[in-house]
Amino acid sequence: MYKDLEGKVAVVAVVTGGSKGIGTAIATRFGQEKMKVIINYRSDQKGAEEAAKAVRAAGGQAEIVQADIGDEAGVQKLIDKAVEKFGTLDVWVNNAGMENQHATTELSLKDWNRVIEVNLTGVFLGTKAALNYFTKHNKKGNIINMSSVHEQIPWPTFAHYAASKGGVKLFTETVAMEYAKQNIRVNSIGPGAINTPINAEKFADPEQLKTTTEMVPMGRIGDPKEVGAVAAWLASDESSYVTGITLFVDGGMTLYPAFQGGRG
Ligand code: NAD
Repeated sequence: MYKDLEGKVAVVAVVTGGSKGIGTAIATRFGQEKMKVIINYRSDQKGAEEAAKAVRAAGGQAEIVQADIGDEAGVQKLIDKAVEKFGTLDVWVNNAGMENQHATTELSLKDWNRVIEVNLTGVFLGTKAALNYFTKHNKKGNIINMSSVHEQIPWPTFAHYAASKGGVKLFTETVAMEYAKQNIRVNSIGPGAINTPINAEKFADPEQLKTTTEMVPMGRIGDPKEVGAVAAWLASDESSYVTGITLFVDGGMTLYPAFQGGRG
């Protein structure tokens, strides 16, 4: 528990893509920190309602808001709701993301554009809206972007996904520098293999689960709660001198696991 989060009853967090997976885990952890959370969903209203229930059960407050975060008006709706319901905004988490697999020769412009729109343009739009609020109201704001180990590790047949996360890395670093003097911190989280619906099919197949697990020096898949814990730390004043980083939550996946045991 982080005392500064618990004490600040006005803390409001917006979590995009909060209806399942890592977004729900972050929202729930924020609930444990007694925060007020706007949970965004695109189509899964039931999932968002369940996430809101979990936040309230944990001791926080929550409202759900439908919006497509690839759309500027949708993102503005989230800020407006935060201010209307909770009176302010302190933390913004750009979590929503998607992926699909195609050889690059088969990757359609439509699939490329949609992945870039959600994973990179969505991060830009959310960040821009939050920055406008923070600067206008002279707030010590906090932005957390969901990147991936694939901002660093190439991923054949996922070129659009890797490009979007590589974009998130330099976007985070640039904006962190641009707004550092205003006391606005901007950081990324880089999850490795986390047990969420995005991976459900893959991890249900024992062969694929084994292949992925072998890429993790710690030898196991991550729990979404382990990402939620890092988000809470980044949101809190305990990380007050940290900006512009990607904090990998990956069991060591970015440590060149092919070299394990002295190979190479
Ligand atoms: P998930 O599929 O379980 O959840 C993704 C969420 O984003 C869903 O709630 C979905 O509805 C939402 N979303 C997608 N497009 C949206 C849009 N246009 N507008 C609003 N919401 C939208 O996936 P997850 O594993 O929880 O992923 C969360 C984030 O973490 C993503 O950015 C993903 O790229 C990243 N990530 C996940 C892993 C992993 O192993 N699970 C690893 C690295 C990075």
